[in-house]
Amino acid sequence: MFECDKCGYCCKNLDKSFLYAELDRGDGVCRYLEGNLCSIYNKRPLLCRVDECYEKYFSEYMTLEEYYIVNQKICKTLKNKEE
Ligand code: SF4
Ligand code: SF4
Repeated sequence: MFECDKCGYCCKNLDKSFLYAELDRGDGVCRYLEGNLCSIYNKRPLLCRVDECYEKYFSEYMTLEEYYIVNQKICKTLKNKEE
């Protein structure tokens, strides 16, 4: 299972990718973020779903473990930037 400590930094840096433009409230923060949590968690877009994105877009190219490692590197980069 992907380890997420709910820091919320991924949802506060949407301006780093055009893929999340529709969710960006204008300053890189998601319009659905409340505190550090997603207010539409059960209905969040596919792009916000780590495991489902893997199955749909990445499973042909890497193992799930490799995919988690890539994602966790991005989490770490965001945390280092913010903290
Ligand atoms: S940056 Fe990573 S650890 Fe933090 S909330 Fe997002 S997915 Fe979870
Ligand atoms: S929809 Fe939810 S999980 Fe996706 S970026 Fe916004 S707050 Fe984060």
